Amino acid sequence: MTSAVRTRQTSSGAPKKTHKRLFGCTCGHKLRLGASRCGACYRPTPIYNRRWFYLLAAFGAVLGLLIVKL
Ligand SMILES: [Zn+2]
Repeated sequence: MTSAVRTRQTSSGAPKKTHKRLFGCTCGHKLRLGASRCGACYRPTPIYNRRWFYLLAAFGAVLGLLIVKL
């Protein structure tokens, strides 16, 4: 008899996570991460909202560590 009680992964009460929106525009609109322009006022988003900024930052950090270790 296989009467093992399975714990379901879909636990109740877990909020549905949509896209990560960390930063907000000056107009108050929540910016989508990686978006180059605001969805409401179409103003260019700050540099820290771009994906390449983080890629560059990560690359710089790795490069810095390599330089320190060498
Ligand atoms: Zn805006």
